[in-house]
Amino acid sequence: PNGTNGAAVTAAADGGIGRRPALRFGDRELTYGALARAAGATAERISGADRVAVWATPTLETAVGVVAALLAGVPAVPLNPRTGERELAHIVEDGAPRLVLAGPDDELPPVLAALERIDIETAVPEDAAGNNDRALPAEPGPETAALIVYTSGTTGPPKGAVLPRRAIAATLDALADAWAWTGDDVLVQALPLFHVHGLILGVLGPLRRGGAVRHLGRFSADGVGRELGAGATMLFGVPTMYHRLAEAVGSDPELAMSLGRARLLVSGSAALPVHDHERIFAATGRRVVERYGMTETLMNTSVRVDGRPSPGSVGLPLPGVQLRLVEEDGTEITALDGETVGEIQVRGPNLFSGYLNRPDATAAAFDGDWFRTGDMAVRAADGQVRIVGRKATDLIKSGGYKIGAGEIENALLEHPQVREAAVTGEPDDDLGERVVAWVVPTDPASPPSGDELAGHVASQLAPHKRPRTVRFLDALPRNDMGKIMKRSLSRG
Ligand code: ATP
Ligand code: MG
Repeated sequence: PNGTNGAAVTAAADGGIGRRPALRFGDRELTYGALARAAGATAERISGADRVAVWATPTLETAVGVVAALLAGVPAVPLNPRTGERELAHIVEDGAPRLVLAGPDDELPPVLAALERIDIETAVPEDAAGNNDRALPAEPGPETAALIVYTSGTTGPPKGAVLPRRAIAATLDALADAWAWTGDDVLVQALPLFHVHGLILGVLGPLRRGGAVRHLGRFSADGVGRELGAGATMLFGVPTMYHRLAEAVGSDPELAMSLGRARLLVSGSAALPVHDHERIFAATGRRVVERYGMTETLMNTSVRVDGRPSPGSVGLPLPGVQLRLVEEDGTEITALDGETVGEIQVRGPNLFSGYLNRPDATAAAFDGDWFRTGDMAVRAADGQVRIVGRKATDLIKSGGYKIGAGEIENALLEHPQVREAAVTGEPDDDLGERVVAWVVPTDPASPPSGDELAGHVASQLAPHKRPRTVRFLDALPRNDMGKIMKRSLSRG
C-alpha cells in the first residue's frame, strides 16, 4: 500500500473509471481521465526538478499541480497565497524551489520573481501531443519526500514538515478504515489547500479511494447544504465552519435535512466546541466525528464510524498508530481514568521524516522514536482520547492545580451571551498563574459581567477553574485555519 496518489490517479484513469468525476471546484470539473492528462502534462514539464513550489489557491489548478508533482516524483511545497512577503521570502529560502506552479490567471508577488513560473493547464485534450509518450520517472520509493507542508504557525513561525510518500499513504488508508471511506464517497469541503487537512485529507484522500471531491472555493453554510443535498456524502471542516453551521442550522430546516443526510461530518485542526457539536446534533440527528492530527504526524486518532462519538473526544488511535500519554517527568501514564493529564506521544508509519533544514528542532521533537506532540490529553476507560489543550498555551498552573483551557472555554461557550471564548494563563502573585477569559459577547452592546461569567463557570466546573479576569474583544485573533492565536492575546 505504498502506491501514492499520482500513481493512483493514472491507475484509476487507465482502470476504467476514467469517466468518473474526480475534482470539482466551483463549476469546473475534471474526470479521472482528464485529471490524468492534465497532471501528466504538467508533470512532464517539471520532471527532474529538485523541488517545486505550488501557489496554493483553492482552485482546480492547485489540485492538478500537486498531483502533477506526485506523478513526477518532485517534492511540492504548497504556498499560502495570503502569507505576507516576509514569511513567503523565508519559505522560499528555506524550501529553495527553483520552480513555481501557478494558475494561468494568478498574480504572483515580487518575492517569487526569481522562480521559474510554470502555468498549470487544466484542460488537456485527449489527442494532445505527448499524451501517450510520457517521459516520467518510475514510482519513487516510499521514503521519498512527497510534500513539504508548513505548520499552521499557531504557536510560532511555521516549520516545514517533510512528508514522505509512505506517511501520506498510511494516514489515508488508516482513515479509510476508520471512516469506511470508499470510492463511492463524494466529499464536500472548503478548506485551504496549503495545509494537511484540505490538501492531503481533502484532495488526495478522495483520489486515493477513487471518489470525488467538490471544493466550494469559499465556505458557506448554503454551499455545504447545496452539495450535501445534491449527493455529496461527506463534509470535512474546521471548527469555525461547524460553528457557522451550528448557528445556521437551527433556523434552516433544509440545511438541517441536508446535514442529516450526510454519511459523515468530520471536524479537525482544532478542538470542536461541545456547544456546537450538541447544537448540530439537536438539529440534524448527526454527530460530528472528530479526528486529531498534526502536520508532522498526519492523523493520529479519530472517532470511528462504527464507534461511539462522544462530544469532546477525538476517539481512538488509528490503525498502525501507537499512542502514549507521558507525564512531565517522563513516566508513562497507564491509567485509563479520564483524569490524569499527560503529553500525547505517537509513533507509526504516519510520521514525517523531519523538519526541513532544522535537525535541532527535529531532534527536540522526538523522545527516541516517539514524537512529542505538545498536546495534552486524558484517556477514558474505553481508551478514547480527550484533548485538554496544548502544553505551551492551554495548560494553566494555578494554585497547585493544572487546569486545561479547553473545558473552561467549553463552559463559557454554553453561556447565551458568549459568542467566542479563549482562556489563557497570566502570572499571578498568589496563584502562580491566574485563569483569564477572553470573550466575544453575542451582543457587543450588552456584554455579560465578568462576575456573571465567573459564576457560570464555577457552577459547571470546580470553583478553582473560574476565570479571575474577563476581557472583552470584538473578535478573537485567528489564523487561516480558524485557530485561535493565543500568543497574540495579551494584556492590552
Ligand atoms: P504550529 O506548530 O506552527 O504552532 P499548529 O500546531 O497549529 O501550528 P498544525 O500542524 O496545523 O499546526 O496543527 C496541529 C495542532 O492542531 C495539534 O498539535 C493540535 O494542537 C491541534 N489539533 C488538531 N486537531 C485537533 C482536534 N481535533 N482537537 C484539538 N486540537 C486539535
Ligand atoms: Mg504544531
